[in-house]
Amino acid sequence: PKEKINILLVENIHQAAIDLFNREGFHVESLTSALSEDQLIEKIKDVHVLGLRSKTKVSERVLNEAKRLMAIGCFCIGTDQVDLTVAENKGVPVFNSPFCNSRSVAELIIAEIITLSRKLGDRSSEMHNKIWKKESKNCHEIRGKTLGIIGYGHIGSQLSVLAEAMGMNVIYYDTARKLPLGNSRTCPDMKSLLEQSNFVTLHVPDTEQTRNMISEPEIMLMKPGSYLLNASRGKVVDIEALAKALKSGHLGGAAVDVYPVEPEANNNQWECILQKCPNTILTPHIGGSTEEAQEAIGLEVSELITSFINAGSSEGSVNFPAISMPIRPDTHRILNIHQNRPGVLRDINLILSEFNVSAQTLSTRKQIGYIIADVDKAASKEIKKKISSIPSSIKTRVLY
Ligand code: NAD
Repeated sequence: PKEKINILLVENIHQAAIDLFNREGFHVESLTSALSEDQLIEKIKDVHVLGLRSKTKVSERVLNEAKRLMAIGCFCIGTDQVDLTVAENKGVPVFNSPFCNSRSVAELIIAEIITLSRKLGDRSSEMHNKIWKKESKNCHEIRGKTLGIIGYGHIGSQLSVLAEAMGMNVIYYDTARKLPLGNSRTCPDMKSLLEQSNFVTLHVPDTEQTRNMISEPEIMLMKPGSYLLNASRGKVVDIEALAKALKSGHLGGAAVDVYPVEPEANNNQWECILQKCPNTILTPHIGGSTEEAQEAIGLEVSELITSFINAGSSEGSVNFPAISMPIRPDTHRILNIHQNRPGVLRDINLILSEFNVSAQTLSTRKQIGYIIADVDKAASKEIKKKISSIPSSIKTRVLY
C-alpha cells in the first residue's frame, strides 16, 4: 500500500515535489533544514525514500542503517553528497536533475551580454558612489554582434536561440557533433571562434580537457575590446590571466558567475583577483538560481522517484543501469537487483523459465545488475521467494 511508503524530505524541497508525492498517496515528511549524520541515522530506519539537496551527507554509516531505503533523490545537480558506490552496492538508485536550470542560465547570459555592452555595472556603481558619467563611447547595441558559444549542450544551444532572437550572429565550438540551431554556425576549432567573436561564453563541463581552457594565449586570440562570460565551472578560466587582460584593456569586460574556489555558505569575506577589474560583473554562482528552476527540479526528481517506485524505472539515476518497461495489465512485475557476477543471470532465468514471462529486460553497470520481468499474477509470490534466495540477490520487489 502506497501510504506505507515513507518519504523523508530535508532541506526545504520545493512544494511541487511534496504535492506530487501526496497525490500518489505516499506518506511525506518534509523538513526545512539539513540533518547531521547522527540525526539522519536516527531517522533513516523507517524511510523508504530520502530527498535532499547539497548540505545533507549520506555516508556509508547512514546507508548501513537505511534498511528500508528504496531510492534517494538529490533535488539539485550534484550528487557527491551521497556515497554513490555504497548506495549502488546496496541496490539504492540515486536520482538528480541535471538540466532543469538550463533556461535560467541562458537568460542570465543574455542579460549580461547587454549589461557588458552598455557598461551597466560600472555606471550603476558610479551612481551609487554619487558619480554622474553619461557617455556613449565604446557602448554598443548587441544587434549584429557575434556571440561565440563554447560548449553547445543544453545551455549553449538554448542560449543560441535566444541570442539570435536579439539579432546576434551565433557561432559555436563543441567537441561533439551538434546540430546548429537557427542560423548558427559551427567553428572547426576554438581558435577561429575566439578570433571572430565579440562575446565569448563558456558552457562546457568541468573536465581535465576544460581545466584552464581559457588562459592567456586564448584570451590574446580574442578581439581587442571583446567580452568573456563564464557561468560554467570556475576552473575552466585562468582568472589571473583574465584579470590581467581586463586591467590592460585588451578585454572590454567580463561576466563571471563561477570561481576556482567558492565558499560553502553565504559569507561576507569573499576575495577574488577579479574584484575592482573594469566593467566586470561578478555574481555568486546564481546562474541556475531561480524559483522556476527549483520548481522544475522538484517536479523532475519526484517524477523519477515515483516511476521507480510504481514501475521500477531506473531512468535518470546516476548509479544504476538505466532500464524501464511499459506497464502491462494482467501481470505482476518482478524487480531484482543483484551483484553483477557471472552465473547470476543463469540462476534467475532458470527460475523464470518454469513460468510464463510476458516481458523482461536487464542491464548491468559496475557492481550491479538490474532485471525487470513481467510474470503471471499467480506465480509472482513464488518467483519472488525463489529469486530472493539466490545468494547474489541484493533486493527483490514485486509490483502488484
Ligand atoms: P551539457 O552537458 O548539456 O553541455 C556541455 C557541452 O560541452 C556538450 O555539448 C559537450 O560536448 C561540450 N564539451 C565538453 N567538453 C568540451 C570541450 N573540451 N570543448 C568544447 N566543448 C566541450 O551541459 P549544460 O547543462 O549545458 O551545462 C554546461 C555547464 O554549465 C556545466 O559546466 C554546468 O556545470 C554549468 N552550469 C552552471 C550553472 C550555474 O549556476 N552557473 C547552472 C547549470 C549548469
